Amino acid sequence: MSQPEQRRIVNTPIPGPRSRKLQKQRTAELATGLGMALPVFIERAGGGILVDVDGNHIIDMASGIAVTSVGASHPAVVHSVTEQVQRFTHTCFLVTEYDGFVDVAAALNRLTPGDHEKKTALFTTGAEAVENAVKIARGATGRPAVITLDHGYHGRTLLTMSMTAKNVPYKQGFGPFAPEIYRVPAAYPFRWPGDPQECAQQALHRLRECVLTQIGASNVAAIVAEPIQGEGGFIVPPPGFLRGVQEFANEHGIVFIADEIQTGFGRTGAMFACDHEEVVPDLITTAKALAGGMPLSAVTGRAELMDAVPPGGLGGTYAGNPVACAAALATIETIEREDLVRRARTIEDLAKPRLERLVSRQSVVGEVRGRGAMLALEFVHPGSTAPAPEIAQAVAARCHAEGVLVLVCGTFGNVIRLLPPLVIGDDLLDDALTVLEQAIREQS
Ligand code: PLP
Repeated sequence: MSQPEQRRIVNTPIPGPRSRKLQKQRTAELATGLGMALPVFIERAGGGILVDVDGNHIIDMASGIAVTSVGASHPAVVHSVTEQVQRFTHTCFLVTEYDGFVDVAAALNRLTPGDHEKKTALFTTGAEAVENAVKIARGATGRPAVITLDHGYHGRTLLTMSMTAKNVPYKQGFGPFAPEIYRVPAAYPFRWPGDPQECAQQALHRLRECVLTQIGASNVAAIVAEPIQGEGGFIVPPPGFLRGVQEFANEHGIVFIADEIQTGFGRTGAMFACDHEEVVPDLITTAKALAGGMPLSAVTGRAELMDAVPPGGLGGTYAGNPVACAAALATIETIEREDLVRRARTIEDLAKPRLERLVSRQSVVGEVRGRGAMLALEFVHPGSTAPAPEIAQAVAARCHAEGVLVLVCGTFGNVIRLLPPLVIGDDLLDDALTVLEQAIREQS
């Protein structure tokens, strides 16, 4: 099947009548706790377009939350998945093995930062990868404590929810939380209470102080950080922060875990966001864009750490499913063959200067930030840094009505994030940005 026409087409109000009908059924059948950004039902998707059941062609600036970097139906992925499904769908790698699992591990050992000896274990979801990275760090160090950052997001399971900073909607009512999780300030220059120039150094000082005086370094198994915080609002730490975290961790025998579940595989204009600063984490968690839309996640890291857990300590029925592995191999090959890492940088060059022109003291856009094809606008009340979630919501709603899917995120719910598929065409990107600019002007 060919890709949908790569053009925005708005045939009906969005959501259209068919989506609205399905939505009624959804409301009757599904748990209320399952949210959705835009209540439209999708029939086909590919490249930078989502085609809904009413025939609208919606520009995809979300990629299913940073998953479909190669598009939602890249021919190489479709071919690889089809071929694998015809051979077999599942054996459980813990029962009998298959080479796709080993090949994905080898690719991750090759691609992730650092040229030390690495090993990989595959899982299914991002949260599961983070859980297992913590298990490995605890197993290797014999220590209990885990340090995470303000504004961090690591998933919805008990441990990863406990590691996540934001209360509503992720944690409210779901306690008691997992013990031995400690949170320290993130280096967030736009909201740093002191001089933003000092943000990295002061945040590192707080990390050191908290670990050395309140927890005790010898009790800390891991520091877990997203190199660019995703759900928290696309927060890019100033240069030096990540390296400082890495050095502090190394000094005290603490495992430094980079959660690259949202930032990985070219999204930020480098294969991994840690590469921008040549930071080499001890363990790295990946998922999302790894398998072109199929569920697959991984922990990759120093061989001596990965091997600290005895046989049987890691795994899961579906961990490293063969169909997902086939998708991942095709996805990784596509990212490399089509040089999508460079494409992410081009997307930044095309989009960021336009977005930056929207920032001023009188504007509702307080800051534009991000790297590569992971860009965001933080909305504020003009002339202040007071968060304006209602403006972010209004801008997103206007974009949705015009057939451009954008997502809202951030601790204060006031950030619009742009995560287009890396294969999006220039014309489509230009059209989406024009719609977004217009929607913002209407709020100014
Ligand atoms: N870690 C980060 C940085 C994420 O962005 C996410 C999901 O958004 C997760 C972990 C959890 O991944 P999953 O939803 O696949 O469990």
